[in-house]
Amino acid sequence: MHIDARKIDNNSIIEGDICIVGSGAAGISMALEWLNTPYKVILLEGGGFEYEKQMQDLYKGKTTGQKYYPLESARLHYFGGTTGHWSGFCSTFDPIDFKERDWVPHSGWPLNREDLDPYYARAHKNLDLGPYEYDVKYWQKKDPELKSLPFDGDAVFNKMWQFSPPTRFGTKYRDTIVKAPNIHLYTYANVTEITANENASAIKEVTVKNLDGKQHTVRAKQFIVACCSIQNARLLLASNKQAPKGLGNQNDNVGRYFMEHLEIKSAELWLTRPDVLKLYHWEWEITKARAELAISEEMQRKHQLLNGTASLIPLEVARKQPAFIDIWTADTAATKRNMVKLDDIGKEGAKKEGHRAFQLFTRVEQAPNPNSRVTLDTEKDALGVPRATLHWEFTPLEKHSLRGIYKIIGEQLGITGGGRVRLMDYLQDENDNTWPSFTGGGWHHMGTTRMAEDPKKGVVDANCKVHGIANLYMAGASCYATAAAPNPTLTLTALTIRLADHLKEKVKGKL
Ligand SMILES: Cc1cc2nc3c(=O)[nH]c(=O)nc-3n(C[C@H](O)[C@H](O)[C@H](O)COP(=O)(O)OP(=O)(O)OC[C@H]3O[C@@H](n4cnc5c(N)ncnc54)[C@H](O)[C@@H]3O)c2cc1C
Repeated sequence: MHIDARKIDNNSIIEGDICIVGSGAAGISMALEWLNTPYKVILLEGGGFEYEKQMQDLYKGKTTGQKYYPLESARLHYFGGTTGHWSGFCSTFDPIDFKERDWVPHSGWPLNREDLDPYYARAHKNLDLGPYEYDVKYWQKKDPELKSLPFDGDAVFNKMWQFSPPTRFGTKYRDTIVKAPNIHLYTYANVTEITANENASAIKEVTVKNLDGKQHTVRAKQFIVACCSIQNARLLLASNKQAPKGLGNQNDNVGRYFMEHLEIKSAELWLTRPDVLKLYHWEWEITKARAELAISEEMQRKHQLLNGTASLIPLEVARKQPAFIDIWTADTAATKRNMVKLDDIGKEGAKKEGHRAFQLFTRVEQAPNPNSRVTLDTEKDALGVPRATLHWEFTPLEKHSLRGIYKIIGEQLGITGGGRVRLMDYLQDENDNTWPSFTGGGWHHMGTTRMAEDPKKGVVDANCKVHGIANLYMAGASCYATAAAPNPTLTLTALTIRLADHLKEKVKGKL
């Protein structure tokens, strides 16, 4: 059922079993897991069902360090969340992404890839992806024209991606959620504070406010915060009455290790003869699966590289494309226009006779960095919550990895005679750690409530429970310990479904 929190009596007390804060990919995936169960689920959404400028304004904040997108346009504040904008690119993390790597400080998850496999398969359904198949041979069997570039040995492999339509959670799941008798969706219910008991060992209630001046209290047995990485950290930091540094922040980890994917033009690939390279080609709303070039675990270890992939775009198409960071302006009204420009990128099909030159475009993980972080500003939003400040910062490992990835791809294609790779100027000098002006992220917000078994090293445990607080869970990419190369939504959906299974056992009294 749906309740507009502006229309109920001021100071209402709302009670349930499970309280989910935020209704994006994570919040809705969590709610769907409780459909037709005997539990009363309160789903709190700060916005309404449509985009509203005054809701976006609540996301406004400062950015420092590496140039970043305006915070109020990098995320959407209404039912369905940022899936109202996403492009649907999905792939799984590799086994190495979960391991501790001695050349990547702060790496290692208390989980491994096998732990996530069953949940990836379930997440595929939420995101309307194809079969849970990421083996290139599976796709080549379906379409023999998907031919691989020639590589010598296993140094480089074809990492498969799948594409969601893209599923807009707000559109697709609205009826299901609203018609579910046990799911109580409150819109215009912005959580402004989480209140714990005196020693901050359990959550009692959350405070909800809206711009109509109404305030309510929500009580539940279990609380799941699913507002995305920046807002997740902001809410914990701003909830500081019982824990002066913020909830879960006894070891000063909340907000730290903010990670993005560096998405950047990096090199050119010149083939000996023109080719369509259909295996690597992507067309908006048409391509169901394609490959990107990736570096094997062995080579990542040998050359001490972060994980990253390279996608191929015909050079003549790529040259017309402005960098994301340049077209995404501070003007939120321009957001929709910018999206159209982004969608156009995938609309230019490959020429029938193929192309000789391709732009190699990298998506590389950012090394976890405690200085890349979200903090609270002194300025407050219209509901009285301190605004977020994002400081985005890289380490020299990102540049080293970018260069290393293309050296390996270049060597491989040189050996087989498949083509030549030319690094862009900013990657030529090994001692240069600066970044060009067109460096941008993929709008992938990760880290900030990272997962670690040791409370000194992270905010949540392997079940996404906040260390030291019995009934507070974080859902979403804020729990990532490292970012891997793929875009985050498939993995965060899988992680959320895994959390839901854990909570189901907990409420049954089995844990
Ligand atoms: C242009 C663009 C392209 C993208 N493309 C891709 C892609 O191709 N592949 C991919 O994997 N990812 C992509 N992403 C990222 C993807 O959108 C996010 O990973 C995903 O939406 C995150 O889901 P979430 O539920 O954690 O957060 P969100 O979807 O942001 O949802 C958070 C929800 O919480 C609500 N909320 C926030 N604060 C409060 C509060 N205090 N009280 C109550 N409610 C609150 C919000 O209104 C929202 O509904 C893209 C993002 C952008 C902007």
